[in-house]
Amino acid sequence: MQKRIALFPGSFDPITKGHEDIVLRYMNMFDEIVVAVGTNTTKNYMFDLPTRLVFIKNTFDKYPNVRVETYEGLTVNFAKKINASYMLRGLRNTTDFDYEKSIAQMNKELTAGIDTVFLITNPDLAAISSTILRELIKGKADVSAFVPKGVVIK
Ligand code: ADP
Repeated sequence: MQKRIALFPGSFDPITKGHEDIVLRYMNMFDEIVVAVGTNTTKNYMFDLPTRLVFIKNTFDKYPNVRVETYEGLTVNFAKKINASYMLRGLRNTTDFDYEKSIAQMNKELTAGIDTVFLITNPDLAAISSTILRELIKGKADVSAFVPKGVVIK
């Protein structure tokens, strides 16, 4: 039988407990989850790519069916390249929903079939976003409550 591969794409700048929760909750539904860091040369990141990768690898090192990759260009092209049949997204609120719905519908057209599957965020993690974390980090706040254990921000 064909392996059920799911792609979880994002910037992960940095990975948060919200991202971790999505992967852990989906883990048993697929043979493999590929957490993939999209790199966009025009975007400015707070954490460079090697650092973001270390944070993600530390987070999932106990789970052999979670693989960490990087990609450039369109997410759908990368999904096809790794033979993913599904894309995973987390939904925190209606803004996420409206945005993700259009992308998912277009991606299905573009890929001739890769389906996006959505998980509603756990209520206690719904307020966590990488964007807010970056602001807190800039202000030297302790963000350890919002990031997985393997993420050490000094
Ligand atoms: P992007 O650059 O694509 O916005 P992110 O790294 O911000 O990437 O997010 C990747 C995915 O993780 C998205 O599907 C997003 O909705 C989801 N996500 C982000 N934060 C949370 C959270 N707190 N709980 C659940 N899902 C989340």
